[in-house]
Amino acid sequence: MNTFEDFKIKKTLLRAVVDLGFEKPSPIQQESYSAILAGADFVGIAQTGTGKTIAYLLPVLQDLTFSEQANPRVLVLAPTRELVIQIVEQIEKLTPYMNVRVLGVYGGSGNIASQRKAIVGGIDILVGTPRRVYDLALSKVLRLQSIKKLVIDEVDIMLDFGYKTQLKNIFEYLPAKRQNIMFSATMTTYVDELMDEFLVNPVKKTISISGTPLESIQQESYAVQNFYSKVNLLNHLLADKNAYHKVLIFVGTRIHADRLFELLKFGAEMSVIHSGKEQNHRTKAIEKFASGTSRILIATDVIARGIDIDKISTVISFDTPFYPENYIHRIGRTGRAGQTGKSILFHTPKETPLKEAIEGLMKYTIPANPWPKGVEVATQLAPEEQEKPIEPVEAPQKKSAKPKGASHHEKSAKNSKPKVAKKTYSDKMKEKFGKPIRRGDKIQNMKAKKRKK
Ligand code: AMP
Repeated sequence: MNTFEDFKIKKTLLRAVVDLGFEKPSPIQQESYSAILAGADFVGIAQTGTGKTIAYLLPVLQDLTFSEQANPRVLVLAPTRELVIQIVEQIEKLTPYMNVRVLGVYGGSGNIASQRKAIVGGIDILVGTPRRVYDLALSKVLRLQSIKKLVIDEVDIMLDFGYKTQLKNIFEYLPAKRQNIMFSATMTTYVDELMDEFLVNPVKKTISISGTPLESIQQESYAVQNFYSKVNLLNHLLADKNAYHKVLIFVGTRIHADRLFELLKFGAEMSVIHSGKEQNHRTKAIEKFASGTSRILIATDVIARGIDIDKISTVISFDTPFYPENYIHRIGRTGRAGQTGKSILFHTPKETPLKEAIEGLMKYTIPANPWPKGVEVATQLAPEEQEKPIEPVEAPQKKSAKPKGASHHEKSAKNSKPKVAKKTYSDKMKEKFGKPIRRGDKIQNMKAKKRKK
């Protein structure tokens, strides 16, 4: 199964794949095509950037015959509106020679009426966020009894967003006899639970284990004293417009996103997105960045994950992510589909243990760059740097979850030590929890611990 011809896909699909310029199937596409086409329940563990969307779309479209029936036969659920839009686009790109009616539905000001109208007009594939799909099903406009295939994309984010109840509610409307297809970047106990509850003997394929950095990404790091020094360093680096022509900057919090947007010197060249921004703003920001109108996009993890933007030259982790897996997700935004990319990580002394946790997970020490001459080390401290311990910024409600090694009393003396053999992330977790757990499970373990109390 090394070529798309080996898949024996119909000519109309093959022509579209050729038009897209895809030369051969990616590993996840090779792994999933036959199993999904055979009708088995399927779980794919694959990151964004591996070609996972096409991996489920190809067999689904191969199996979809022309029909005039009004009710959809395929339901794809995705956690964010951005991802819904992107999946619809991918379907459209794959079906210019096929007669497929696809509709994307998601929340947002005043679009439910047009979505209702489109549904009544008849659709084959519905792509939507759980809340909107549920609302439409509840109002009886959307009839889900004809669904033959259910795809849940980015299951781990979905469950992290707290969509489990919505998912279960939607399942109530679906026929019991259906094919379930799930894709997740990480395995977590919640994904496991969902699989146990709703899937029948699923075929499971794992591609690009989340601890394995993509080889096409050059990684670098800078030890930085504090927030304002990071701003100075970033202003210095981004002044080189050739080297940094499409830069995605990850920050840990909305506050950092907004503050950084104010402090960087690049005005109209920048956009910012986080979950506190209106949908319209987010869509425009992504469009501007994707089209190259803006060179720099500042984003938080959850909102940026799943967004497919081509040719990002550099991913900068302005804040070291609290959960090591998020670093892998971040850097996966560059070096995509055969291109080379660069990742730069900034870490303050407080964040250094987090960087070490990332290195433990990857079994790779990120090369350190010297502090560039002429860049000022700031003495001013940001409010959150003043005598407060570091918080898990990506999941503020889960304060007790600290990866092992993330003690915030150990400080910069550690930086100057020669590198010693690193414990893997799973070893550390094993020590901590006394049993082997998978990457990505720690939030759930913490929750389970809390529940037991
Ligand atoms: P995804 O992991 O689904 O977000 O896909 C990442 C990117 O890879 C998308 O821009 C796809 O269009 C692209 N892509 C998917 N499959 C292939 C392939 N077989 N060859 C080249 N690019 C691909």
